[in-house]
Amino acid sequence: MPASAELAVYASCPIASRGRRFPEPDAPTRSVFQRDRDRIIHSTAFRRLVYKTQVFLNHEGDLFRTRLTHSLEVAQLGRSIARTLRLNEDLVEAVALAHDLGHTPFGHAGQDAWNAAMKRAGPASSDSEVGWGFEHNIQSLRVVDELEERYPAFDGLNLTFETREGILKHCSRSNALRLKQRDTSGVADRFLSGGSPSLEAQLCNLADEIAYNAHDIDDGVRSGLLTLEQLAEVPLFQYYVDQALRSHPGLRARRLLFESIRLMLSDQVYDVIATSHQRIQDSGVASAEEVRTCSSPLVSFSEEMARQSQALKSFLLHNLYRHPQVMETTERAARVVSELFDSYLQHPTEWPQGGPPGRHPARAAADYIAGMTDRFAIREHQRLGGAVLFR
Ligand code: MG
Repeated sequence: MPASAELAVYASCPIASRGRRFPEPDAPTRSVFQRDRDRIIHSTAFRRLVYKTQVFLNHEGDLFRTRLTHSLEVAQLGRSIARTLRLNEDLVEAVALAHDLGHTPFGHAGQDAWNAAMKRAGPASSDSEVGWGFEHNIQSLRVVDELEERYPAFDGLNLTFETREGILKHCSRSNALRLKQRDTSGVADRFLSGGSPSLEAQLCNLADEIAYNAHDIDDGVRSGLLTLEQLAEVPLFQYYVDQALRSHPGLRARRLLFESIRLMLSDQVYDVIATSHQRIQDSGVASAEEVRTCSSPLVSFSEEMARQSQALKSFLLHNLYRHPQVMETTERAARVVSELFDSYLQHPTEWPQGGPPGRHPARAAADYIAGMTDRFAIREHQRLGGAVLFR
C-alpha cells in the first residue's frame, strides 16, 4: 500500500471538524488539528509530564521513561502508522501528546490514592463536583477544557471536538451522563449510545499499548527488576530474541534487548497497518462520521497479535508492575497523595487553590494534586509535616 500525502476518505479532515466549544477564527497557516497540537505543546500540563512517573519514579534514574517521553513515543508510533493508513497525522499527534495530561503524580499509585480520598470526601451522588471520582482520561479532558489558564476569553485550551474525543479514551456510564449534562458537544455520547471514536483516536489507543509494552520491557530490564531469562516465558518477545540472535550470533545484553524490542515494535506496527487497512476496507466506511457509527474499533491488531500482546501485558503486570520493589514505592507514593489531600482539606490556607469561590474544596484539592509533578508532591508533603518517605 503506497503512502500518500492525501488523506483517505475515512480520515478526519480538518475543514470538516465539528469545531471548538468557543468559536474562533481559523489560523492563517495551520489546520485546526495542527493548532490543537501546538496549544498542547505550549501548555503547562505538558511540561509537567517530564517530572511525572510512568512506572519508575523520575529520580530513580535519568533514563527511565517519564510521562513525557512515553507520550512522545506514542506520537511517533501513531504518526508512523497514520501516514501509511492516510489518516490525519496532526490529529494523531495532538491526541497522543495530550492523552496522559491528566495523570496524577506517581502514576497509578497516585490515581488510586486520589480516588480513595475523593470517595472519603463525600458519597458519589451527594455532590456533582466530587462524585466524578478519578478517571485519568476524564482528568486529561478537564485539563484541556477547564484547568489550563492561558487565554483571555475561555478556560482551558479550547481544542476541537476531534482532539477532545480522542483524549476521552474511556469513560464510565455515570461520568458520561455527568459530561452530557454540562457539555453539549457530545464528546462522551459514544459511552452512552455505543459507537466509536475517529480512526485517529483508535490509533492513539493502540499506539499507547504498543509503546508502553515495549518501553516497559526496556525500563524493566534496565532497572534490574526483569531479566532476559525471565522474558523467555513471553513467546512474543522470545520470538524476536531468537530472530535477533539468528541475524547476529553472539549478540549480548543491551544490544540484544534493543534489537529484540526494535523487531517487535516493527512487526506490531506492520500488523496494525495490515489488519486495520483490511478491516477499514471490509467495513466500507466512506467518511469519518461513518466510522463513528461502527460498534467496534477498526484500528486493531490481528487476532493472533492481540493474543500475544495480551500475554506480554499480563507478564509485565505480574513481574514488573507488581514487583515487590515497585509495590513498595507505590505504597509510599499513595501515602504522599492521600496525606496531601487530607492536609489541604484540613488547612485551606496552606495552598493557593484553598478557597476559589464556587468550587468544592475536595474537587479543588484533587485538581491541584493531580497537576503536581512527583517531586513537587514530595516537597509539599514534607512542607506540611509529612514523614520523609522519599529522598
Ligand atoms: Mg499512555
